[in-house]
Amino acid sequence: MARWGMVIDLAKCTACQTCVLACQAENNIPVATPGQSDQGRAIQWIRILPLPEGENAHARLRLLPVPCLHCDEPPCIKVCPVDATNITPEGTVRQIFARCIGCRYCTTACPYTVRKFNWSEPRWEEPWEEMLNPDVSIRPKGVVEKCTLCHHRLQLAREQAQAEGRTIREGDYVPACVESCPTEAMVFGDLDDPESRVTQLTRSARAFRLLEELGTRPKVLYLSEGEWSGKRA
Ligand code: SF4
Repeated sequence: MARWGMVIDLAKCTACQTCVLACQAENNIPVATPGQSDQGRAIQWIRILPLPEGENAHARLRLLPVPCLHCDEPPCIKVCPVDATNITPEGTVRQIFARCIGCRYCTTACPYTVRKFNWSEPRWEEPWEEMLNPDVSIRPKGVVEKCTLCHHRLQLAREQAQAEGRTIREGDYVPACVESCPTEAMVFGDLDDPESRVTQLTRSARAFRLLEELGTRPKVLYLSEGEWSGKRA
């Protein structure tokens, strides 16, 4: 069984936000009005996080694309009172929208702030509702939502592989953000396959995990622009 993960190469990422838009379109994420944005109620399942690096005159701003990092030890799961979020056998952290009661304990527990509470009933004016992805549910007001690594695409890849009498191959299942990246900064695949490209990248001297000291062990890793001086992933 696969264990899905991703590596994001910061030397290639230009923070163009194509991944953000691809995720928005793929997963039926409503676009916030200016008023909602002003109140901090815009929903993005992947966002570009500005991270200052260095100090004073030498400081520079690093821009990190941050989806749910699908931690191996996810604090969000531990605090959910209704088991609306749990870890699948393939290592992805799923969110069962129909079970979520909107208590937002998970939003508080996630150190990467990738979970978003849905404050209002999502609406799309005609004819934009024609663009909605039929493979992805519309989340109602009052639930917490987050990146699923485009789990619906895994189902489609599985069905396709079954129809062809084979198992899923590398490249059959790719989330929308990875597929859309113009610089191929994002690489996705099976972390348990020693030959996969993603596994090989995790062995790079540049590989690191965000806030590694917390022990959450994310399955989304980053490659720093230069050699990483902290602990290896
Ligand atoms: Fe949970 Fe946050 Fe880790 Fe995603 S990044 S698995 S929401 S703790």
